[in-house]
Amino acid sequence: MAVWQKPRFTAIIESMVEKAIPKVIPIRIDEGTGIAPPIGKQLITPHGHTQDTRGRTLRDLRISVTDRCNFRCTYCMPKEVFDQNYPYLAHKELLSFEEITRLTSIFTTLGVEKIRLTGGEPLLRKNLEVLIEMLAKIQTAEGKPLDLTLTTNGSILRKKAAALKAAGLQRLTVSLDGLDDTIFKKMNDVDFPVADVLDGIAAAQEVGFENIKVNMVVKKGTNDHEIVSMAKHFKGSGVILRFIEFMDVGSSNGWNMEQVLPSKEVIARINEVFPLEPIEANYTGEVAQRWRYIDGSGEIGVISSVTQTFCHECTRARISTDGQMYLCLFANEGFDFKTLLRSGKSDLEIANAVMNTWSTRDDHYSEIRGSQTANLSSGSRKVEMSYIGG
Ligand code: SAM
Ligand code: SF4
Ligand code: SF4
Repeated sequence: MAVWQKPRFTAIIESMVEKAIPKVIPIRIDEGTGIAPPIGKQLITPHGHTQDTRGRTLRDLRISVTDRCNFRCTYCMPKEVFDQNYPYLAHKELLSFEEITRLTSIFTTLGVEKIRLTGGEPLLRKNLEVLIEMLAKIQTAEGKPLDLTLTTNGSILRKKAAALKAAGLQRLTVSLDGLDDTIFKKMNDVDFPVADVLDGIAAAQEVGFENIKVNMVVKKGTNDHEIVSMAKHFKGSGVILRFIEFMDVGSSNGWNMEQVLPSKEVIARINEVFPLEPIEANYTGEVAQRWRYIDGSGEIGVISSVTQTFCHECTRARISTDGQMYLCLFANEGFDFKTLLRSGKSDLEIANAVMNTWSTRDDHYSEIRGSQTANLSSGSRKVEMSYIGG
């Protein structure tokens, strides 16, 4: 294991600590300081059956295409930390479109079928549609098209929807934390209005995106009274609303358990007004538990990352904006694939490095959340959500 080295922006952290901002530990791994992925001596042909130490197979890949965002959601990129002095990655540190495409192709030879582009705000990455076009040409190991999707805050979706669709993006998730402008603006912390996100969703529907998902992070005491109005708004619209429990991801959002509203409470509140019944998952490892309205007007989902964990079937790997592979949303170390990509290694060598990395994976943070993770939540380093995506 590589030894963690002091990042070059330590001075910024120290000045924040001096200003006594609680839990201000933005993290990035400085160039070259990630763990070197083990290629191994005997190269084997890539196959789709690599399991981690808990028997979980690699199936999904989330790729963060930028660490920047035009929102400052208090639970993700709080203003106090992500201010004008924050050391965002320089362009040369980002994986290029060619590198992302190559890495994606390699991952598909290992059984990955689903790619989610995320960030930061992915639509801020210049010419993102060009990347989507490149990715849309890649097929799964079985020769099927990849399930290619993207999560966005929707702020520039009106402008981008047609280009995304034309480039071959199949599905879309838009984040929206309420319909009340005052609440939403307070949560995005940049005064962004609800109407513009709704307009972005409408634009996506107009160009032919179906079954759009809307993610609402529920923070108890902040926006939980918006649950039923959100359900009412999207019921019967073809949009699938999903409620996400506020998570202790990263080290800068001041998370505490009192701000988590358990998903079962979300379901109870909606069920009181619009009766619901549970439905089967679409596939093994689906993070959302699905419910449908008994009157047939659609479905909703809940993502209970805190109160009903799903680590046992977690098949997701993440690639950070600068090409580190993370094995868990709550990881504090990444595997440096950018250096491999830039050092003339063959696809076969990189595929072996992915297999060897995945096969060492033991991550199950949500299952052990609590005393064993307390030290992580209260001071040491976890990677920030904006760096590896949701
Ligand atoms: N900027 C895009 C967006 O907001 O959709 C994509 C990146 S964002 C990090 C991905 C998802 O993570 C969003 O749906 C966001 O609401 C969710 N998220 C961020 N921080 C979270 C937290 N602390 N707990 C739960 N979900 C969170
Ligand atoms: Fe930006 Fe998305 Fe994080 Fe909000 S949740 S700050 S929109 S990256
Ligand atoms: Fe997967 Fe880690 Fe989340 Fe568990 S905590 S579901 S291992 S990303």
